[in-house]
Parts: sequence; structure tokens; C-alpha cells
Amino acid sequence: MAVIAGNWKMHMAPEEARAFFSAYEIDEIIADNEVLIFPPTISLVAAYKCEDRDPRVQLGIQNVHWEDCGAFTGEISAEMAASAGASYALVGHSERRQLFGETDEQVALKVAAALRQDLIPVICVGETLEEREAGRVSEVILRQLDFALASIPDPETRFLIAYEPVWAIGTGKTATPMDAAGAHGTLRNRLEQAIGMTAAARTEILYGGSVQPRNAAELLAAQDVDGVLVGGASVNPQSFGDITRAAG
Ligand code: PEP
Repeated sequence: MAVIAGNWKMHMAPEEARAFFSAYEIDEIIADNEVLIFPPTISLVAAYKCEDRDPRVQLGIQNVHWEDCGAFTGEISAEMAASAGASYALVGHSERRQLFGETDEQVALKVAAALRQDLIPVICVGETLEEREAGRVSEVILRQLDFALASIPDPETRFLIAYEPVWAIGTGKTATPMDAAGAHGTLRNRLEQAIGMTAAARTEILYGGSVQPRNAAELLAAQDVDGVLVGGASVNPQSFGDITRAAG
């Protein structure tokens, strides 16, 4: 079983979201896999209500505020996202961290906010090229993970992790299956220490960063890779369909 997730980023207005679901063909492979789409917030309701969306394709929000409500112009709460059809929440995507200055502390607060509304957090971690070249991959991703884990109340709480090396996102440069397996192994070991062997084994760790139909199968076959988080290739129903099938 694998998790195939698509992050549409700031693409796909409501009408395009509807068109995606009428073109996205999935077959029985999905029975063993989980498919998630993270539309932009403005398209979440359209995606949720779209009759062409197979209900097994679940939806998530790309970002939430850490407060439940209040004077935060332009922000969206986890409660609003849940009531609009989200079951999952991306937290700490590198674009949020890099472009909007999101800190590890804020990521932890957002994980807690998502869980208060029964949204399943997909916690994103990943190093920059500079950090990788300085040999700091484990240090960086474990620091990011530890902050987020502080908001996980007990080992029964479901959450996912997405390892997304920043240098691989939207660049066409993909981590090798060996790179991915190494980072995922590091994350899994930390999970074992933090929440125990059983919970760590069932926590899905997704790889993200320039996943395409041509490389999805080899990445999905790598040790400790339980799924993929796809950005650019997820807005094309044919490409995302091919990636979904690669998980079969
Ligand atoms: C992402 O946005 O999470 C991502 C991995 O993007 P891309 O697949 O385009 O690199």
C-alpha cells in the first residue's frame, strides 16, 4: 500500500479542479493505495463537491493557521478546512518555510491545530542544497521532525511525513532512490525512538521532489518510501494517473 499525494500549489482554479477529476482515471489499483489531492483553498469545495471525483480520492488543505479563529486576515483555520471537505493538512511545506518564513515553532503549532480538527497532518521536512553540501541532512530533517513530533499527543495519532529535499522541489532534480532511502531511514529511526516500533512502522513517509511518471516506480520501490508527494506533475491528470499506477 502506498500513498500518492498531489500538491497543486497555487494552480487549478475551481473549474480546472473539476476538469481534472473528470479526466483522472483510476482503476482497481487504488484499492490498495491512498490518493490525496491538496488543491488551493479556493478550489477545495469545488473538488469536494465534484461528482466526477471518486470519493476514495481524499482531499487536504495546503496550509492552516494555528489559531482556530480570529482576526487573521487572509488566513484559513483547520476547522474551516475540515468543514470545506479536507481530511488532511500539509504542514511545513518548504515553500511555506522558505518563502513565507514559517518557523519550526509555527509548524508545531499548525500540527496541533490540524489535529484539534481531526485533520491528518502531512509534516514536510527537507534540507536545502547548502545544508546537504555541508553534510547536515540528518541534523536538519531531525530538528524539523522533532519540533513537529512535540505536537503529536500519543502513538495512536495518525500523521504522515513527507521528506522533500528543497533542492529537488520543482527543479527537475530528483533524489536518487538511495538518497531517499537514507533520509527516510533516518526519519524512521527517530520515529521509533519517539513513538515506538509499531507506530513508527505504520507511519507513512512520503518522498517529494520532482516525482514524475518516469521515476515514480523506482522511488516507490526504495526502502522506507511509503508513497510520494507530487507537485508539478500532479496537475496533469494523465501524469498523475501514471504515477498512481506506478504504485501498483
Ligand atoms: C511539492 O510541491 O511538494 C513538490 C514535490 O513539487 P515538485 O513535484 O514539482 O517538485
